[in-house]
Amino acid sequence: MKFLIMGPPGAGKGTQAKILAEKFNLEHLSTGDILRSEINNKSDVGLKAQKFMDAGNLVPDDVLLSMMKNKLTQLRNSGIILDGFPRTVPQAEGLSKIFSSLESKIDYVINIEVEENALINRLIERAKKSGRADDTKDVIIKRQHVYKELTEPLIEYYSSEIIQVDGDGTIEEVTHRILKRII
Ligand code: ADP
Repeated sequence: MKFLIMGPPGAGKGTQAKILAEKFNLEHLSTGDILRSEINNKSDVGLKAQKFMDAGNLVPDDVLLSMMKNKLTQLRNSGIILDGFPRTVPQAEGLSKIFSSLESKIDYVINIEVEENALINRLIERAKKSGRADDTKDVIIKRQHVYKELTEPLIEYYSSEIIQVDGDGTIEEVTHRILKRII
């Protein structure tokens, strides 16, 4: 089974992706986590990605697409949950080509919705603990703008299949809302 989970920064998609990965035995592919580990390893991808991430910008589509093509090819026979990818319409188009070439497809597209002010407050709280270079107030606001401009259009792109879930509530409540829609 292939899942795609989307939502604005701070919506809790990473948390829900982990829970779903465990429940359905899926490989959890978080592009934010993968890119941060590439940066720690000082790999070519990491070196290319760092300045974009630190500023709250998206890493270029071609970097993401080639990185994800490799991962998805390696994991072609596994269940997968994609968290943080695609994040632009060209990435979604590229992903569709990758899946066709692997004779695979996305089974569920989940979008977690949370109102913007609540998101910024959540991220400022998370920043106190995370130590992430992109968790400062200015960069948090920048990431919300980037989301609106480049990622939100994916809701329309996937409109025929998207499962909209209200992300306001406890972790358990949100999980329950997702599970109700997919089982
Ligand atoms: P958040 O969900 O809080 O935005 P992530 O950990 O998912 O955090 O992503 C952190 C950063 O990694 C993004 O701001 C962006 O720079 C980069 N990134 C992650 N996924 C992608 C992607 N699919 N395309 C481009 N950049 C990405």
